[in-house]
Amino acid sequence: MALNLVMLGPPGAGKGTQAKRLAQARGIPHVSTGDMLRAAVAEGTELGRRAQAVMASGALVGDDIIIGVVRERLAKPDAAQGFVLDGFPRTVPQAEALDAVLAGKDPIVVVEVAVEDEELVRRLTSRRVCSACGANAEVPGPGEKVPERCARCGGTLTQRADDREEVIRERLRVYARETRPLVEYYGGRPTFRRVNGAQAPDGVAREIEAALASAASQGGGGAA
Ligand code: AMP
Repeated sequence: MALNLVMLGPPGAGKGTQAKRLAQARGIPHVSTGDMLRAAVAEGTELGRRAQAVMASGALVGDDIIIGVVRERLAKPDAAQGFVLDGFPRTVPQAEALDAVLAGKDPIVVVEVAVEDEELVRRLTSRRVCSACGANAEVPGPGEKVPERCARCGGTLTQRADDREEVIRERLRVYARETRPLVEYYGGRPTFRRVNGAQAPDGVAREIEAALASAASQGGGGAA
């Protein structure tokens, strides 16, 4: 059975880190709409030109645009054995569109990674991404210095344009308004699980594995 996984949670909850790990471990694609949009901006494609200003403000790009992007991505052969969706869906219309795309396929498993707002702001303001290898630098503890170089490759660490405090606050408002309703949308399904994201990445990963094992017993695919 395919593991069709949606990682749900606010910006900074650690969804991306967990989604990457899991996708790699299971040999299924990590589908991050934020990464796809940032790549489109960097390449200067039509999609990138349309998304750039919206992303910089912390708002969401239009449902039609992003639904089209995801529909095309999930139609590729490598997604037939499952996928880890990260950053999509973010609105109820996107979730409805995803249900329509996956009609007749294995049920989606939804894992919500929950973290309080103040911790998210702390993590996001100190988040740095390597400009050379793309890795996220480890988030420093409270009061610790933000690193300048990538621990993995020595590359220069940069801050995402939308990781400034005022944009972060807007992204959290947008999350509360547009995306949190998805907890209710999915919450009644037997393959919905919540994990505590306010712990070290290994602890979150262990909780997610346990959540996936229990969701598999409810028909959610991809038991490890
Ligand atoms: P992320 O890397 O997931 O935090 O996404 C960065 C930005 O890309 C968001 O703040 C939005 O502007 C845009 N974006 C990513 N995914 C979506 C989506 N599913 N719907 C609308 N906008 C999105």
